[in-house]
Amino acid sequence: MLDGQGREINYLRVSVTDRCNLRCQYCMPETGISYVGHNDILSLEEIAHLVRVGASIGIRKVRLTGGEPLVRRNISQLVHYINDIKEIDDIAITTNGILFAPLAEELKAAGLKRVNFSLDSMVAEKYRFITRSGDLSAVLNSIEKALALELHPIKINTVVIKGFNDNEIMDFAELACKYPLHIRFIEFMPIGDLLFWRRDRLMTSQEIKQRIEQEYVLEESFKIEGSGPANYYKIGGGMGSVGFISPMSNHFCGRCNRIRMTAEGKLRACLYEQGETDLKPALRRSTDDEELKQLFMQTIFSKPKRHHMQSGWGEDNHRMMYQIGG
Ligand code: SAM
Ligand code: SF4
Repeated sequence: MLDGQGREINYLRVSVTDRCNLRCQYCMPETGISYVGHNDILSLEEIAHLVRVGASIGIRKVRLTGGEPLVRRNISQLVHYINDIKEIDDIAITTNGILFAPLAEELKAAGLKRVNFSLDSMVAEKYRFITRSGDLSAVLNSIEKALALELHPIKINTVVIKGFNDNEIMDFAELACKYPLHIRFIEFMPIGDLLFWRRDRLMTSQEIKQRIEQEYVLEESFKIEGSGPANYYKIGGGMGSVGFISPMSNHFCGRCNRIRMTAEGKLRACLYEQGETDLKPALRRSTDDEELKQLFMQTIFSKPKRHHMQSGWGEDNHRMMYQIGG
């Protein structure tokens, strides 16, 4: 369906948990996290129910995220439920990749079409530092597994942080050259655990692109399946591509096609704006879907025109990225 600005909304990002097996410096605090309680978190069947309602008003694409979606027990069962919804033609997962390899086959068999891995460094100690514990080899193993299973297009999300991993931009570009991988360089956003975010750590997409162009020819920009807000460029002579996501320097709200649902069933029209619609009371109370459908439609219709991330996350914003679903 169209939102109040005339944008077609057909993409639902579902956070299946606010828990995570890592603690990325910019995303989650190391300690003192309070999680959604057992009764408040949606069951897999409830999530599938809400996706079905979304599908009835035009949702065609679903991405499972979190927190870390693969720490949710029986996640393949949820993929299977969603795959059974005939209107949904694309199911993807965004994961840190630590647990992907052992689950890859069953996820694919359940209907998973694509996977995005988050990877900010290819140096083991740096990876451990930014994730506060992660084992780089587990992620690399998972990426290899996704390549072997041909879960294309396989994307790598890399948040570029000046002074931390900007010296690895060429290594990531080389990865896109050698393998059919799509590296998406993401501008560091003032969202999440703000103790780590600083304006001088932000590197714009333009700066990143210019750096890559010192060594590589970037061919004509193109779109790939589920390409969302990124602009992609084929790397000259290589197998993959590099893409740039610029929420800070060039917001893409005019092309936004998504809404988000938190693990406790709150529908959020924009990552950055605070408004949420609680679906759970209606979900647990009603026997027909009309009320839920109305709640979806109202949320979509009132989707804000654009975010105001450039002016800061705001003291009063009570949720972090892992709680909303990144
Ligand atoms: N745990 C999964 C993962 O890491 O892929 C899914 C959830 S995570 C919140 C989704 C994405 O949000 C990751 O790629 C992460 O790097 C990105 N992210 C989190 N905080 C961010 C920030 N402040 N700026 C840019 N990207 C951020
Ligand atoms: Fe976990 Fe993903 Fe946040 Fe890292 S970015 S702490 S992996 S939810």
